[in-house]
Amino acid sequence: MSIAFVDLAAQFSRLEAEIRAAIDRVLKHGKFILGPEVSELEERLAAFAGVEHAVTCSSGTDALLMSLIAYDVGPGDAVFTTPFTFIATAEVISLIGATPVFVDIDPRTFNIDPALFETAVERIEAEGRLHLRGVIPVDLFGLPADYDALRQVTEGRDLFILEDAAQSFGALYKGRRAGALGDVAATSFFPAKPLGCYGDGGAVLTDDDALAARLESIRVHGKGTDKYDNVRIGLNARMDTLQAAIVLAKLQAFAEELEARQRVAERYTRGLSAVVETPWVPDGLTSAYAQYSILSEQRANIMAALKAEHIPSAIYYAKPLHLQGAFANLGHQEGDFPVAERTSQRIFSLPMHPYLRDDEMGGIVNVIIQTVN
Ligand SMILES: *Cc1c(COP(=O)(O)O)cnc(C)c1O
Repeated sequence: MSIAFVDLAAQFSRLEAEIRAAIDRVLKHGKFILGPEVSELEERLAAFAGVEHAVTCSSGTDALLMSLIAYDVGPGDAVFTTPFTFIATAEVISLIGATPVFVDIDPRTFNIDPALFETAVERIEAEGRLHLRGVIPVDLFGLPADYDALRQVTEGRDLFILEDAAQSFGALYKGRRAGALGDVAATSFFPAKPLGCYGDGGAVLTDDDALAARLESIRVHGKGTDKYDNVRIGLNARMDTLQAAIVLAKLQAFAEELEARQRVAERYTRGLSAVVETPWVPDGLTSAYAQYSILSEQRANIMAALKAEHIPSAIYYAKPLHLQGAFANLGHQEGDFPVAERTSQRIFSLPMHPYLRDDEMGGIVNVIIQTVN
């Protein structure tokens, strides 16, 4: 068997004509920076997610950073987030000079635990050293966090919710789309994400008109009336027109691809739920399945058996952020976030993309069943 973890080649064969035509149009009109495809994509993304504004940018990381800049977050500020995520989520908090305050995760969803969030907020309030500013819940592996419960904690407090939707664009939370679940959301078009481009790209989504205007300024060097009138310190964080054209072409197949991801997840869960812990999706939610992640005490054996059959698998995430050297200054130690730590020791992800064939999934399931039995 030769199975890809994420099969971009299969997607390209399906969409080759559309993608080549889209790239060709950009080469011909030559508006490589903030060309017409960028604004068209922004309209389509906002409509898809059901928000007023989409501001595209250079990556998911920059989408998070631009949001924090737009809220004027800085030294002395506390921003809450999960330690069980990709480094980018918390990195931007430190980069801007604020303090990441980690909150442990729910063992079933792997997302920030709202009850522990409330405890952490009360502790920071009681200590009185840091100014409470916001929370960055992550929709890990494509499953939205528990926004209703998080909102109960932020309500009545001066705390924004910045949804890290880098893995969840396309997911649903009680009838609303990921990207529309916080005050502002950041998503990513990194090639391996559910909706990817052929390089780096991202977007910030929000209903807040004033915030969207600040984001548009921040993405072009803090521009005022034009690029040479600078009213704030900003970045060069635009998304290329070429990348926007590629995402537009891929959007045509996105709804179908999301359904295919559901079918893959259902097939895996049917085959595996008796032998490993399969993903739990709360009622009313639909995951975008950026990853299909399972838990087993026999992770090492299973991954070795898959590898022997040339089936790729990966660990997201082997080391929680509070134990990363980059955050050594926060003074955390093992045991501080036991659920994240315990999860990191047992979790791993199987090949997940819309073009997985039934026989491939069957083969993967069989290898795992044979290994654990
Ligand atoms: C991928 C990812 C990011 C960063 O996106 P880039 O486009 O790679 O910068 C941020 N947060 C999470 C949870 C991610 O998975």
